[in-house]
Amino acid sequence: MIDVIAPASYIMRGTAAGGTLRLVGIDSTHIVEEARLRHHLSKTATAALGRALSASALLAILLGKKVDSRVTLRIQGDGPLGWLVAEGSADGLVRGYVRDPDADLPPRTSDDKLDVGGLVGKNGELAVTRLLDNAEPWTGSVELVSGEIAQDVAFYLASSEQIPSAVLLGVYEEGGKVARAGGLIVQAMPGATDATLKAMEENIAAMGYFTDNLRQSSLLEVMERAAKGLDLQMATAAQSARFQCRCSRERAIQSLVFFGGTERQEMMDDGGQEVVCHWCNEHYKINPDEIAALDAPEEHARA
Ligand SMILES: [Zn+2]
Repeated sequence: MIDVIAPASYIMRGTAAGGTLRLVGIDSTHIVEEARLRHHLSKTATAALGRALSASALLAILLGKKVDSRVTLRIQGDGPLGWLVAEGSADGLVRGYVRDPDADLPPRTSDDKLDVGGLVGKNGELAVTRLLDNAEPWTGSVELVSGEIAQDVAFYLASSEQIPSAVLLGVYEEGGKVARAGGLIVQAMPGATDATLKAMEENIAAMGYFTDNLRQSSLLEVMERAAKGLDLQMATAAQSARFQCRCSRERAIQSLVFFGGTERQEMMDDGGQEVVCHWCNEHYKINPDEIAALDAPEEHARA
């Protein structure tokens, strides 16, 4: 088992400018650090997946109404990372993984920031699947803008969901660990005036690098900065969020029903079978008795 970090990440919501701006922010420091530990992610891969994990949690809240609403981001670029997948649910549970956790790049020479866009690649696609409110799953996709993820998510929201928004995502690592991670989406609601949008854009431009804001300030302070002069009204309670997968030992055992009798016998003869969850990298060691207790392959095929 992997040591699980205390669920100390959280989501905050607010509105501004008389309800014509909606803000959803996440402090995802613990979520991203747990993702780094579980998947043994390189420094830049941690930043890439961390930004996507934060975005998936925020999108699940923006797009879903019920607690079990889920949003999955799949980003496939032509960079060394291969692809990444992040899933968030409106109840604050987040999970995700990347194709190549070892992939890494040196910092950008222009500003010494992590080269997430280079690692993900600029030529590719962002696909968003919504599992919302008991409706059929729905997937929309856009071409990548930069591979930096925040810009790509903003472009997706504007073009596929007709939701004009500002998307800010950041991961700051220090001493080989995630020191701060988070995200903020400011959504323009119907009725937002040009003056409100201009003020919000100027606030965000004045903030500079989002990661630097996260390093120096709490999530609430960052949200106040984004909505400066726009009468930010925060929802009273923060919502806890954490890295939590939907896998279980029972599901891992059940996954073996797809193997035939001969293959299962080989697994039992080998002393059992290890099943690895790609979402969270949990390793389940399934023992021969558990394999023997599964339905016979023929029975399952008829079911
Ligand atoms: Zn899992």
